[in-house]
Amino acid sequence: MSYTRSIELFERAQQSIPGGVNSPVRAFKSVGGTPLFIKNAKGAYLYDEDGNQYIDYIASWGPMILGHAYEPVVKAIQEQAVFSTSYGAPTELEIKMAELIKGMVPNLDLIRMVSSGTEACMSAIRVARGYTGKNKIIKFEGCYHGHADSFLVKAGSGVATFNIQTVPGVTAGVTNDTLTCAYNDLQAVERLVAENKNEVAAIIIEPVAGNMGCILPEKGFIEGLRKLCDAENIVLIFDEVMNGFRLAPGGAQEKLGIAADLVTYGKVIGAGMPVGAFGGKRHIMEVVAPLGNVYQAGTLSGNPIAMIAGYTLLNVLNTNPSIYKELDEKTIYLRDGLNEVLKAWGKPYVINQLGSMISIHFSDKPVTDFASAAAANNDLFKKYFHAMLKRSVYLPPSAFESWFLNNALTKEDLDKTIQATKESLKEIT
Ligand code: PLP
Repeated sequence: MSYTRSIELFERAQQSIPGGVNSPVRAFKSVGGTPLFIKNAKGAYLYDEDGNQYIDYIASWGPMILGHAYEPVVKAIQEQAVFSTSYGAPTELEIKMAELIKGMVPNLDLIRMVSSGTEACMSAIRVARGYTGKNKIIKFEGCYHGHADSFLVKAGSGVATFNIQTVPGVTAGVTNDTLTCAYNDLQAVERLVAENKNEVAAIIIEPVAGNMGCILPEKGFIEGLRKLCDAENIVLIFDEVMNGFRLAPGGAQEKLGIAADLVTYGKVIGAGMPVGAFGGKRHIMEVVAPLGNVYQAGTLSGNPIAMIAGYTLLNVLNTNPSIYKELDEKTIYLRDGLNEVLKAWGKPYVINQLGSMISIHFSDKPVTDFASAAAANNDLFKKYFHAMLKRSVYLPPSAFESWFLNNALTKEDLDKTIQATKESLKEIT
């Protein structure tokens, strides 16, 4: 397999873009080697600038749930573009989008569109603070809620991948208000809330975590957070930027059967366009300007191209709930096939999976939080990543990321991935 064009482009990119990329984890820094420069994608496949084809398990980090260049979305964008790419004024399309989301998602009265998951989470904690009149927030080690200052404390995803302990440029004044706990440790959260009595505005969590690999909530954990938040007047925020519209039409709230006070979205909601959203119960969301004084705004919020893309995709997901069954079945098929070859390999590993989120950690203990994810053999993961890439399977270039399946994947693609794992495991040990 030749990577000549990608190597050339990476050299060139570094002359004018920091590290050659516009988002750090794309640089392959932690796994080494040259990032692939992508020319185009269709369905389940990516094609790089050298003409190599890959089976894609990143799906643009989640959004491409039905595969790349999904025709109804492409057509809708093309039709909308001729009417202007932005108006900066309200449109009926934004109402249709909000109404569609309200129909799909439980516990949501009002929703505000933004342009990224970061903006959605940043705005949600501002709302929680404005609503409760309290300052502190609790987040979980290894969860990632975007790159806003308050969240860059023991964060997952790229922050964990690059082992960044403190982020220069983020002041202690901000991070002092961000308290952290281990994911799945309800007692630690209860202690923290007791120690900061009447000071905690919000608990923000990825209900199914995807930024330290895929990590599932243990029975009773999120239920316990719900009870604690009710008892202590704390706003429970589900960061569903990954989970939303992926685990079920109603996201993690529906899949886990637990209600949040505020929910944030990104990724699938925009079908690959820059979209995020935050929303929740009317009495909380009413603090948002212009209804209330919690200011939040965006020149391109509710952008018509982004809205038509997201609306078209969500509509397909809403009217075809069997898609979720198909995605679940495909992921379970992959999980079972991987289990078989990993078991035969005979060395320690853990597969975590829920819905179409899945990941492998090379660990001899259950991976239930950031500490156990970080204790896994991540050097082995790097070798596995490269061995798979050589076999045309594009996995996230870090063990601190979930894989995302898309519904364009065929049984043949999944079989190829299982076979590639079998061969890769032989090669790396
Ligand atoms: N929240 C979660 C759970 C995420 O996974 C991400 C991004 O990966 C974000 C928030 C931030 O979203 P964005 O990258 O669109 O700003």
